Amino acid sequence: ANLIDRIEATLRDVPDFPKEGILFKDITPVLQDGALFNDITEHFRARYADQKIDAVLGIESRGFIFGAPLANALGVGLVLVRKPGKLPADKVGIDYELEYGTDRLEMHSDAVKPGQRVVVIDDLLATGGTASATVSLAKELGAEVVECAFLIELGFLAGCGTEPQEPSLDATQHQ
Ligand code: 5GP
Repeated sequence: ANLIDRIEATLRDVPDFPKEGILFKDITPVLQDGALFNDITEHFRARYADQKIDAVLGIESRGFIFGAPLANALGVGLVLVRKPGKLPADKVGIDYELEYGTDRLEMHSDAVKPGQRVVVIDDLLATGGTASATVSLAKELGAEVVECAFLIELGFLAGCGTEPQEPSLDATQHQ
């Protein structure tokens, strides 16, 4: 089976988590499947191998999980994009809107250098709010965001209001 079908078959849908009415896509079974996890990393590595990537930006916390092996496979550094109050040194931050209320993401000011080409990675794209906040932060530090990568896209939400360039490669579509 192709990679997307394997991911889709392995993901677990958990109803009413973290609260009633939400159907949560649980990626833990994907991580537990060593061959699948490895093939996912290899897929992303192949996609970015010739893109002159300088760093991978992983979004807390599941973006760290996919970002770390990707950075390693590409032979570049991993940058942590974190929830507020976690990073110890000089940092930049951005507040962004959630469905209810706001949230905030932070990066160390020296995490990327002006002109560096970066890939942003997270497990799942829903509204796109988290990813676009991260893109803004990266741009504030002068980085060039080559692409945002996700394991899963909640297709019915049309993240960022745009069509993925290669939906069959970028993300698993759901619902
Ligand atoms: P967005 O900002 O695109 O609306 O939401 C995406 C963020 O929420 C990502 O950081 C993602 O990890 C998290 N998220 C939202 N819903 C789910 C879900 O059903 N499963 C998982 N694994 N993550 C989710």
